[in-house]
Amino acid sequence: MNLRDLGVHRVVAPTGALPQAAERLDPSLPIGENEVLIDVETLNIDSASFHQILGEVGRDEDAVARRIQQIVAERGKMQNPVTGSGGMLLGRVAEVGSAWSGTLRPGDRVATLVSLTLTPLAIRRVVRVRLDADQVDIEGHAVLWPSAPMVRMPDDLDERLALAVLDVCGAPAQVARLVRPGAKVVVLGTGKSGLLCLAEARRQLGSTGRLVALDRSEAPLRALADAGLCDAWAVVDATNPTATAQTVNELLGGLADVVINTVNVERSEMSAILGCRDGGTVYFFNMATSFARAALGAEGVGRDATLIIGNGYAPGHAELALDLVRTVPFVRDAFGRAAGAA
Ligand code: NAP
Repeated sequence: MNLRDLGVHRVVAPTGALPQAAERLDPSLPIGENEVLIDVETLNIDSASFHQILGEVGRDEDAVARRIQQIVAERGKMQNPVTGSGGMLLGRVAEVGSAWSGTLRPGDRVATLVSLTLTPLAIRRVVRVRLDADQVDIEGHAVLWPSAPMVRMPDDLDERLALAVLDVCGAPAQVARLVRPGAKVVVLGTGKSGLLCLAEARRQLGSTGRLVALDRSEAPLRALADAGLCDAWAVVDATNPTATAQTVNELLGGLADVVINTVNVERSEMSAILGCRDGGTVYFFNMATSFARAALGAEGVGRDATLIIGNGYAPGHAELALDLVRTVPFVRDAFGRAAGAA
């Protein structure tokens, strides 16, 4: 194992840490021989992180820009110190190290498939903050190494749309693994990742089983039902576990086999766990999930469910998510709106 391929040489502190856990990374130039330099154009900030920053500084573009610049200046990466989460970026390959083993070439437009929480990043200027898309256009650079996958941007999809999809592409890939025909499935949170999960669950279930969508707003849920992307829906507050579990019981006539948590707020662990049967599976894609609250909470209610942490990586995850966008018109339209695409 070559530690430089894991980016360990870019860690400033603490000594011995991997880049994701590091307090601070060194984004300085020149790049090493195994690295790639990206001219960054857009940061797609993780929803939990963007939401937290808006709560802290208000819906003010200049204040959000200042906060993001401050975090990146302090940490050498865009890792929100409160949520711990990052996002991903869109840019153009500026330079490829002499020992780089991949196929990328200078000029290629790419999106990173690893989190901004481990990507060395320097911002020269914030060009624009897109409050409704969780995106920030910047001038700056990022450095990637061999263990940090990137994807060439698809040329048949709007770039902002593709970026928003790629940010959450790990979620539907896990749904493809977890949902089997006939299953009772609940998707808690029907934003970007929740929508992809519903679309993939529908693909796995076909007309079998039962697919339930839960969120806090009625209009998007109605639209999902009209599009055939759920069999039943309800407005819930995911931070209220007893009411949410009761709703699941009513809609399913029992508990779920699989619950996917894609809300972007804290304290939603028990809503997902209480709605899942013994022997079922709860998948926490939500980055505001507390491991301790989930594990101890499940123990506390005696629920023997398998709890899965939302690993954002699975082989083929980008292709699977982009395929959902290409083949399910409702998904494409919704992401187009969310990303502010034409
Ligand atoms: P999103 O588009 O903002 O969707 C979140 C949804 O949850 C929204 O519809 C939101 O409603 C709803 N919601 C918020 N609070 C709620 C509550 N109390 N009760 C019910 N619904 C509620 O977010 P996303 O981009 O899909 O991301 C979802 C989560 O995935 C975030 O926590 C993000 O950090 C995480 N994530 C994980 C990975 C990974 O690799 N594991 C990668 C990317 C993102 P409103 O729109 O009304 O607020």
